[in-house]
Amino acid sequence: MSRKEALNKLRDVLLTRREALKKALDGDLSMLQSLSQDGGDVMDAAMDTAQDEISSQLVEVESRELTQIEEALNRIRDGHYGDCEICDKPIPLARLQAVPYAISCIECARKQEKISPRMMGEHFS
Ligand SMILES: [Zn+2]
Repeated sequence: MSRKEALNKLRDVLLTRREALKKALDGDLSMLQSLSQDGGDVMDAAMDTAQDEISSQLVEVESRELTQIEEALNRIRDGHYGDCEICDKPIPLARLQAVPYAISCIECARKQEKISPRMMGEHFS
């Protein structure tokens, strides 16, 4: 698969995820739950603790992710998706596949992490 095809696929992932998050914020977690089988993330952890009721923590996580997804979708529209917003280098596909809304490369995310650890890259070791 070419990088372009991979990025197109990630766009679909982002659009689906955005739908699921919007529904979840409306109180319907079913779509998000069916999506979250693809690997553990912050959302799953929040889901486990929240179960059926939407805790304020979950809403916070969802809203934050939604904002990041909107930003990634904006970058797709501008044609910059997949490039680091800080150093302009292409973001490795492996990172985008793990975090489709990533808008900076790991190196830049790490630098930012030192400033605000909760902003991004928290599931990278
Ligand atoms: Zn960078």
